[in-house]
Amino acid sequence: MRLILLGPPGAGKGTQAQRLVARYGLVQLSTGDMLRAAVAAGTPVGLKAKDLMAQGALVPDDMVCAIIADRIAEPDARNGFILDGFPRTVGQAEALDAMLKDRKLGLDAVIALKVNEDALLARVEKRVAEMTARGEAVRADDNAEALKKRLDAYRAQTAPLIDYYGGKGTLNVVDGMAAIDAVERAIVAILEGTGSAAKRKPARQSAKKVKKAKKVAKRPAKAVKAAKKAKKTTKSKAASVKSAGRATRARKGARKAAVRGTRKAAAARRPAAKKRAGTARRTVKKAAKRKSGRR
Ligand code: AMP
Repeated sequence: MRLILLGPPGAGKGTQAQRLVARYGLVQLSTGDMLRAAVAAGTPVGLKAKDLMAQGALVPDDMVCAIIADRIAEPDARNGFILDGFPRTVGQAEALDAMLKDRKLGLDAVIALKVNEDALLARVEKRVAEMTARGEAVRADDNAEALKKRLDAYRAQTAPLIDYYGGKGTLNVVDGMAAIDAVERAIVAILEGTGSAAKRKPARQSAKKVKKAKKVAKRPAKAVKAAKKAKKTTKSKAASVKSAGRATRARKGARKAAVRGTRKAAAARRPAAKKRAGTARRTVKKAAKRKSGRR
């Protein structure tokens, strides 16, 4: 799954990104975090970005685009990623489109967190208080003056992305003023509703699945046909068994009749044979008498 979280500073992009990371096992790609790390490490990028960031201004597109291009090529981003704080200009969005196209990747969703700007200062103040309480270093741009500039930059350079992604049909707007859990639920519902949570990959496979499902759906009809055929075959088999039985019985009957006929004929022949035998016996006796008289 690859998605973008859009929203002004303090809208809760980072918080929601972390929850989605935990839920879906994605990587969070926050250009703000990467730039802060570069500043802390004193890299050439960090040195260039440091002052702009402290003032609440955006760093040049080519700088952040180069960072993202390298980052999405890393192995851990293969399973999907959440872009948090990038893109921030239409130029960056176009560069991202080109990067994804080069890698034959798509975007699953763009989630825009809609917030009431009046509440943002209070949110940022809360974040500063929490970070201080945890003993963490407070961001150089988390103050009223820098926040105003960041908001100006958002309105002028980032807000046009709402139309940019709206035109592409990938935009989803979520009420970022709701409680953190409710915002998460709304995002999850969008991702799962669009099939993004099931990840685009399976969505592409789903064409295959649909084909298979259609095949399976056809099966009952096939089964009915097969059953009909089997019934027919059984019937004709039964019929032929019946007729075979009849034939066998007829054959047996004929044989019996023949035997009966033979017996009858034999019986009929018996008296004649007896007669002939009697005649023969008498002839033999007469001949014997004649012989003895001659003597
Ligand atoms: P963030 O942590 O996202 O609020 O970003 C902090 C600061 O980093 C921003 O005010 C910018 O100065 C810089 N920055 C972060 N992401 C970008 C970006 N995509 N384009 C330009 N500047 C950025």
